[in-house]
Amino acid sequence: TAAAAASTVRQVELEKECELRIEVGPNSPLRLRLVSGTAEVFGTEIPPEIWVTYPPRLKFAVFTWYGAKIEMDGITETEYTADETPMISYVNVHAVLEARRSRAKASPPDSDMAQGPRVIVVGPTDSGKSTLTKMLLSWAAKQGWKPTYVDLDIGQGSITIPGCIAATPVEMPIDPVEGVPMDMPLVYFYGHATPSVNVELYKVLVTELAQVVEKQLAGNAESRASGMVINTMGWVEGVGYELLLQAIDTFNANVVFVLGQEKLWSMLRDVLKNKPGVDVVKLQKSGGVVNRTAKVRQKSRGYKIREYFYGLLNDLSPHSNVANFSDLNIYRIGGGPQAPRSALPIGAEPAADPTRLVSVNVSTDLLHSVLAVSFAKEPDQIISSNVAGFIYITDIDMQRRTVTYLAPSAGELPGKYLIVGTLTWLENN
Ligand code: ADP
Repeated sequence: TAAAAASTVRQVELEKECELRIEVGPNSPLRLRLVSGTAEVFGTEIPPEIWVTYPPRLKFAVFTWYGAKIEMDGITETEYTADETPMISYVNVHAVLEARRSRAKASPPDSDMAQGPRVIVVGPTDSGKSTLTKMLLSWAAKQGWKPTYVDLDIGQGSITIPGCIAATPVEMPIDPVEGVPMDMPLVYFYGHATPSVNVELYKVLVTELAQVVEKQLAGNAESRASGMVINTMGWVEGVGYELLLQAIDTFNANVVFVLGQEKLWSMLRDVLKNKPGVDVVKLQKSGGVVNRTAKVRQKSRGYKIREYFYGLLNDLSPHSNVANFSDLNIYRIGGGPQAPRSALPIGAEPAADPTRLVSVNVSTDLLHSVLAVSFAKEPDQIISSNVAGFIYITDIDMQRRTVTYLAPSAGELPGKYLIVGTLTWLENN
């Protein structure tokens, strides 16, 4: 595509319905400002005149409906203007969703009609799912709705760190740099970056999340009319496809947007034909969506974890704490054998129960693990409880029997039970 640009202040004139696609360089941020006209980044308007800083490696587009002049300062990996985008089709489906929200709002609050659109965005990896999800949410929030953002993507989710599924109300257009406010999202910890590690657990957590979201919506007419937008994983074959069907079913989605794959669209359309009131709509993938290699994706998981502890611009200072082995109650979900071998008939292999709770003894295996702090009051509530936050194990002293860990703040952890999976992070990577 385009050559990397040197770090000089430069201006770009954008014609109406065009976008400037940017990949910020790897080492330093990019400053950008809107000189004249109007423009948005993934559905959120850019404030006029003010310089905004975009962090290294961010890939984004500045789109304008009516024309704009942009000024940039900093090094980019890529920057080019595109006049072909699917934005018109995206804003058209947004308009249809808006009409449904208005209809829901005008309906008797206790009726089924009072439920706004429940949108789910599906498609293979790098088809622009998260981007479309954020756009639809931001456009809705801009019109004063309070849609619920549900993220089922444990690999590259954008509500919280990887290995989790989460939901949060969106009250303002989503900041393209900061993301959704991290205040109080509802988060369930799966603990692995790939769903195949424990598919059963993933399903259980999706069901838990859906139930709580359902309860929250039932008590809030405004949220209910606003509906939800659900982002999903890029795993669309085999078990991945079944997980999509489960998500559609569990969240009672009634609008399915399929990005970038004809086959998936026709499969879903055929299967959902029998479900009245579910629309399956094929949408064009944007040419601006950047393909990420497995390595890039893994790196970006690390950056998300770093961001949780240190902030996007290194503006947070996590606290290093020391605990005795005996003070930590760590559990793993799944894996361990269901019954001891001795209790089974001769020759039978113990089956691994995917949702069994296993108490974990501290060992050096836990070094560099990211653990979740559960809200559970008792161990048997762990699987059905959401989590308060995360800690990161930085040192294990087997002699002194102490664990050193990083937490967002000093003081006691917000819960007694910790959950461990296979999620790890190397701080200096
Ligand atoms: P998916 O969720 O399907 O994996 P994403 O929406 O995360 O895909 O898009 C992949 C990457 O491409 C992200 O880094 C995103 O910011 C970037 N991207 C998406 N649309 C555009 C665009 N129009 N111009 C530039 N970058 C884009």
